[in-house]
Amino acid sequence: MTPFQYERASDVGAALAAGARAGAQYLGGGTNLVDLMRETIEHPDVLVDVTGLSRDIEETKGGGLRIGAGVKNTAVASDRRVRERFPLLTQAILAGASTQIRNMATVGGNLMQRTRCIYFYDDAARCNKRNPGEGCDARDGFNRNHAVLGASESCVATHPSDMCVALAALDAVVTVKGRTGSREIPLTAFHRLPGDTPHVETVLEPGELIIAVTLPRNRVASRSQYRKVRDRASYAFALVSVAAGLEIEGGMIKDVRLALGGVAHKPWRAERAEAALRGGRATETAFRQAAEAELSAAHALRDNSFKIELAKRVIADTLGKLATASGAAK
Ligand code: SF4
Repeated sequence: MTPFQYERASDVGAALAAGARAGAQYLGGGTNLVDLMRETIEHPDVLVDVTGLSRDIEETKGGGLRIGAGVKNTAVASDRRVRERFPLLTQAILAGASTQIRNMATVGGNLMQRTRCIYFYDDAARCNKRNPGEGCDARDGFNRNHAVLGASESCVATHPSDMCVALAALDAVVTVKGRTGSREIPLTAFHRLPGDTPHVETVLEPGELIIAVTLPRNRVASRSQYRKVRDRASYAFALVSVAAGLEIEGGMIKDVRLALGGVAHKPWRAERAEAALRGGRATETAFRQAAEAELSAAHALRDNSFKIELAKRVIADTLGKLATASGAAK
């Protein structure tokens, strides 16, 4: 590990002042960043500990929830209001990592975690994300876990978070603060696709700090489900995951939210599928056709073509289960 300076921020202002220094990075629970520092993939000069900040979950005026960036993943998942109003967020968090890691990891840190592409962690491999312009050994290497949507010649890595997939489906908004003020960023616009700059993973400006994530009130959210398909039952990243919410009235789809994990460089909001479903009949055929529409843009690598059909099946099955639970004819 490269030597670094450690500072514990007493408030947001102190964090921003410290975070503005060259080579500074913010520290949440450290469950990914510290690993990356041990591997010398990350080597901050200054580590600004923000774990004591923004630790509340508050009601918003519109009936939503504002979750502080420093709230631990376990606290979010177990919050009664989250469990009742946004059940797929609880399910997504509990599907991720281990109990010990969830007890440490923060909401802000979860948003900032980096890919688990094996070549990214292997300094003997070429990786455009670690060393821009170097090449990508995953493209022709072992790429079973890699992206089928939104990838580029430069990078085919996937985003590892479960929580962020649920947040993408829930229309979550990220509040960030820099030295010139605050701004709000839809979760779906917070992470970037790789393009030619896969090392730039979010739209955060240098020194900006995540303050909170707001979940707007959403009728669909209470009729929602998170499904995760992985190689083993726990402590594994998603091959494919689906966060879905469905509102049906008189057999017709009144509203729908759908996001995918394990398939792209960012949590993937399934807008094509949603557009195909909204206003139509809630049938198995419609669910399958919507999944086909979403995956029509997918491109497989040597080892991951199975993800395309897997994603279609998990989308159709999850929507079917939600329809059945709502009492609608399939
Ligand atoms: Fe690096 Fe992305 Fe290629 Fe993985 S897929 S080796 S993270 S450039």
